[in-house]
Amino acid sequence: MTTTDGYAGGLMGERPGGLTSMRPVPPGAKLVLATANDHKVTELREILQAAIPGFNAEAVIGLKELGLEPPVEDGVSFEENSILKARAVLEATGMPAVADDSGLVVDVMGGAPGVFSARWAGRHGDDEANLELLLEQLADVPDHHRGAKFVCAATLITPEGQVHTETGEVSGVLLRAPQGDGGFGYDPIFQPIGHSRSMAELSPKEKNSFSHRALALRELTDEIAGVVSRLL
Ligand code: IMP
Repeated sequence: MTTTDGYAGGLMGERPGGLTSMRPVPPGAKLVLATANDHKVTELREILQAAIPGFNAEAVIGLKELGLEPPVEDGVSFEENSILKARAVLEATGMPAVADDSGLVVDVMGGAPGVFSARWAGRHGDDEANLELLLEQLADVPDHHRGAKFVCAATLITPEGQVHTETGEVSGVLLRAPQGDGGFGYDPIFQPIGHSRSMAELSPKEKNSFSHRALALRELTDEIAGVVSRLL
């Protein structure tokens, strides 16, 4: 999905959406990923390195390198959250920005936890409490109704006004007890279709080969590569 919103430039100094402070942009940086998660920055660098000949990893930076806090996620869909996060970073930096927003969508719960995945048990980012609460809520749900999917929306926004969003999904079933120590969030209770292990029992390489985030970012790669190549 591509839209043009007519936005014409970065507003250095304005810090909407929870962005609070800013350090100088490191030389060589061309694109900001709207996350404080180093793992996500590395993942995007690897995807772009594979897609763009001569790509320099320093062209992509995360919010930590700029001293910025992640923007507030108060949208009602993954798409809306990824757009508002990308837009907040563009407005704070004047640079092209990429943001992703993801979560778990449970069939029998009408799509919940959805955009509340990170704070399902009440406190943002308490993965263990979120997972325990979900297991309790699903205790009486039989195996054939335990379908769920991970969904990710990823957005690229540019100072010229281009807004491009892609989504990726992975379907699976929810286990009755956590299995495995890898990954994060709901990975220990999510078994992807076609696999006999939970997401937390897969290696990072295996998970990244088909994850919702990898799929969404892969769909965006050509657009991102176009923007970064023009700036190289
Ligand atoms: P965010 O998109 O990084 O804000 O993720 C939101 C929340 O969704 C996380 O805190 C996790 O609870 C859940 N989530 C998103 N992606 C994954 C995943 O790959 N594995 C497990 N949980 C995930």
